[in-house]
Amino acid sequence: MREKLKALAELQKVDLEVASLRKAADVHPRQISELERELGVARNGIEAERTRVADLEKQKALLEQNITDEKDKVKKWEARLSDQRSTREYSALAREIDIAKKGILTQSEALTEKVKELGQAREGIKGKEAEYATKQQGLSGRMTDLRGKLGESESQVKGLEGRRAEVAANVDANLLRRYEVIRKKKLPAMVGVVAGTCQGCNMNLPPQMYNMLRTSLGTDVCPSCNRIIFAVEALNEPKDTAEK
Ligand SMILES: [Zn+2]
Repeated sequence: MREKLKALAELQKVDLEVASLRKAADVHPRQISELERELGVARNGIEAERTRVADLEKQKALLEQNITDEKDKVKKWEARLSDQRSTREYSALAREIDIAKKGILTQSEALTEKVKELGQAREGIKGKEAEYATKQQGLSGRMTDLRGKLGESESQVKGLEGRRAEVAANVDANLLRRYEVIRKKKLPAMVGVVAGTCQGCNMNLPPQMYNMLRTSLGTDVCPSCNRIIFAVEALNEPKDTAEK
């Protein structure tokens, strides 16, 4: 009986190891997608800056066009000045020319500002792009690292699965069948009973059941959690206390 118990305990040890590896490996895909998200945010920031630069360029082109148009207008008006017959007409046109020139001056100042703003925005993009490149490099290094770790734990799991088949071959067929059914719902599927208490659900066993477990050194099923139970004494030989 003790041998059956030991074989199953060995199998469960492998299963618990696989479960904890899987749980740890679960973190990696999440970390990778978090890094990818961070990179996406940085890329969107650059895109927004590029849109702003394109806007500024349009505004600048519009100002330049306006200034050219106004200058053409002034040139035409100035040519017409000498044709004016009366001083009143002359000074009226001269005043129009004056207003137009002032307008050109204001727009030229606005253009200078726009050019300055554009230059700063372009510099800003360069900075952000450099930042992005550094970030991308760092992230891709970390991603490679994480992918490596993921592959590592996957191969560890594969190795354990190989060992599991070997260990499972030593387990009593009926016991194994029962264990497999429970394992799909809860792990550990087999738990010890200490001083009459099931270590899976902390409920007390009926005393008669507990006594049977202790004398038979076999297994039973916990009436409250349905796990396979055994008396811990069955696995604890006095000379071999390390193994449980
Ligand atoms: Zn229980």
